[in-house]
Amino acid sequence: MSTLFVSHPCCLDHDTGPAFPERADRVRVIERTFEGEIFQLLQRECAPELDYGALTRVHPESYVEQIRKAVPEEGYFELADDVVLSPGTWEAISHSVGGVVVAVDEVMRRKVTNAFVAMRPPGHHAETARAMGFCFFNLAAIAARRAQAAHGAERVAIVDFDVHHGNGTQEIFWSDKSVLYASTHQFPLYPGTGASEERGAYDTIVNAPLPENAGSRMFREAMSEKILPRVEAFAPDLVVISAGFDAHRFDPIGALHLEVADFTWITNELMEIADRRAKGAVVSVLEGGYDLIALSRCASAHVQTLMGA
Ligand SMILES: [Zn+2]
Repeated sequence: MSTLFVSHPCCLDHDTGPAFPERADRVRVIERTFEGEIFQLLQRECAPELDYGALTRVHPESYVEQIRKAVPEEGYFELADDVVLSPGTWEAISHSVGGVVVAVDEVMRRKVTNAFVAMRPPGHHAETARAMGFCFFNLAAIAARRAQAAHGAERVAIVDFDVHHGNGTQEIFWSDKSVLYASTHQFPLYPGTGASEERGAYDTIVNAPLPENAGSRMFREAMSEKILPRVEAFAPDLVVISAGFDAHRFDPIGALHLEVADFTWITNELMEIADRRAKGAVVSVLEGGYDLIALSRCASAHVQTLMGA
């Protein structure tokens, strides 16, 4: 059993300005957490540059070029609401795509059992050709497509426990029966999608919305009754986790009341399904999480669980 940790210092150079919740300190606290002794056995890799082929399996070239051209030489450029670019943005998103690809490759080649990619900006709001909600390229979708195209995975399950619905991931796989997308999220909340009636063209989208102020019990019930049985039945060759930690009760953006133990619990449940169905293959990608202490504790618990520690 071994766990890969992927990051790159250039993801700190995506500068979103002083008042933006999605900021470089998020990855700084995670990196500092993983310097602890308990993480000695983590295998670490620096994310390589963009894999263009892996990226364009999800996002069309014209959109990729639109993002690249929007990068300013200095200062900030606001491409859309909550989508800010700075001179370091391209390097950051390029390496975050590279990081996801290396994680999928190492897991699918069984060089490691599972992987956690701690890069930013996050990805699950990014649609096929639309940046929104801090996101440019959909990292979970790139992971799923990489596993299929380069490693022969037939079915991939993406499970998303971020407090927000992953509208981008849902849009990308709406008409694709080879990918199951399953999400718990506060509802209603940004981005407004994620009602339980949204099920995809082939019933491979599973939304389990939670009301404001829902806590551990409702989260675990939604996962146990609505999501985990569907993931198990789908028999995926890889489980991708959209690991957002903004459903923690300390988070300033979300209004769910999850505890660190809930993230440990769901990580374990997903690992058990992966053990039975996917030879343990799990690739987890950082999404949201905006209280730095909660983020560090949740990410620590998540990765300790992945390590079997
Ligand atoms: Zn979020």
